[in-house]
Amino acid sequence: EEDRALLDGDGLPGEDGPTTELLPVVAIVGRPNVGKSTLVNRILRRREAVVEDVPGVTRDRVSYEAEWAGRRFTIVDTGGWSIDATGIHLRVAEQAEVAVDLADVVMFVVDAKVGATDDDEAVVRMLRRSGKPVVLVANKVDDDRFEADAMALWNLGLGEPYAVSALHGRGSGDVLDRVVELLPERSQVPASGAEGGPRRVALIGRPNVGKSSLLNKLAGAERVVVDDLAGTTRDPVDEVIEIGGVPWRFVDTAGIRRRVHQTQGADFYASLRTQGALEKAEIAVVLIDAGTSITEQDIRVVQQVIDAGRALVIAYNKWDTLDEERRYYLEREIERELVQVPWAPRVNISARTGRHTDKLVPALEGALESWDRRIPTARLNAFLGEVVAAHPHPVRGGKQPRILFGTQAGTRPPRFVLFASGFLEAGYRRFLERRLREEFGFEGTPIEVSVRVRE
Ligand code: GDP
Ligand code: GDP
Repeated sequence: EEDRALLDGDGLPGEDGPTTELLPVVAIVGRPNVGKSTLVNRILRRREAVVEDVPGVTRDRVSYEAEWAGRRFTIVDTGGWSIDATGIHLRVAEQAEVAVDLADVVMFVVDAKVGATDDDEAVVRMLRRSGKPVVLVANKVDDDRFEADAMALWNLGLGEPYAVSALHGRGSGDVLDRVVELLPERSQVPASGAEGGPRRVALIGRPNVGKSSLLNKLAGAERVVVDDLAGTTRDPVDEVIEIGGVPWRFVDTAGIRRRVHQTQGADFYASLRTQGALEKAEIAVVLIDAGTSITEQDIRVVQQVIDAGRALVIAYNKWDTLDEERRYYLEREIERELVQVPWAPRVNISARTGRHTDKLVPALEGALESWDRRIPTARLNAFLGEVVAAHPHPVRGGKQPRILFGTQAGTRPPRFVLFASGFLEAGYRRFLERRLREEFGFEGTPIEVSVRVRE
């Protein structure tokens, strides 16, 4: 019964798959029994979520889509998070921290009749550190007599306390008006520079691998849309090329088209330019000259993409120059040199003949889909529960660290935070990452797994 919150939880916005629409997220945090679920019901204008007098009672959903004053947003109710898969209670502030990481705006609920407790103070400190906008809800102000209790909460230093009775509805409109004022248009949390429009691709790779040839091939075969957003027409920074009717923005193409003289220090400038292109891009196509041995510089470029957290496709170019023997050695080199990116989709192309350049777009689309993907909290925890049960962390010094709870804190690329009862060894972390990939795919995107240790 206690596990239901995680196993059946409804999860976070867009969790059923990739979504183009990311509603802003409002997290409702506070101690058990202050009225969070009652407030959620009030906001949703329904009595769906279970409300009981037992503190920390398990609810079967954690997120809901809501609307106020014509604005839609997602509510994350942390009431359902109070018990993890292993039955251990996280402290209030820790549990709130998970929700705050995911939120654009936080509603911090305090029981005005009880006043601020030590737990409340701990949450306040965490909220300050987070820098997120906070609306302070002084709940259980059922009538005028309790207004003074609400005003006492000014001393929390979170600004004006909104006197609310979640149970009767008193003041709930005012507090929602304030929340809506603070909401961004779209969720800012998972977005690392996605401002809509064509998806942004960087063509990168060491000099002479065929970047400008590929760009010309793509632009020649397809329509080049004049880009009036970036750069000038004489020296366009980006080029928008429509491929199969879908526009793609190739970033930083001026640097590709302008043949920089390959002299001393060229390596350094090449890597600087790669960095600049990666910053503007969502996804990188790393070109590698398949006709010659994979070099240190190729590997460095791939590593730059991983470090930048961008989606990745590897294009083995100049396929027209390969004979049987070279093909054999190429496969061996890939196994040896590119072990860190078995997940990167691969296309074997020839920018000269156009061979398989049509495979590029499906590879880009697949990788971006992974890059954007969100795994529902419930599904993630069910999976973690199974993996950890089958392969527990090795016992060290008589102790066995356990994973208490996991959540996907962001996308682009997918970022996971695991809460553990002790330090997880690097080998075990790699094992978890490998299993995550086996379970959920993530072809074409780096993923990050970080661990927070709770005693
Ligand atoms: P949560 O654990 O923070 O989600 O709290 P709940 O929403 O489950 O509420 C805990 C208890 O406080 C329940 O008995 C509610 O009926 C009660 N409660 C919630 N809001 C109010 C309120 O505005 N006024 C009064 N008097 N009781 C409330
Ligand atoms: P960049 O420095 O990465 O932009 O590379 P370029 O596009 O300028 O290509 C470098 C050289 O490789 C030029 O001589 C191209 O004609 C040649 N090249 C590029 N792509 C191919 C290919 O697919 N096959 C063959 N045979 N040569 C290619």
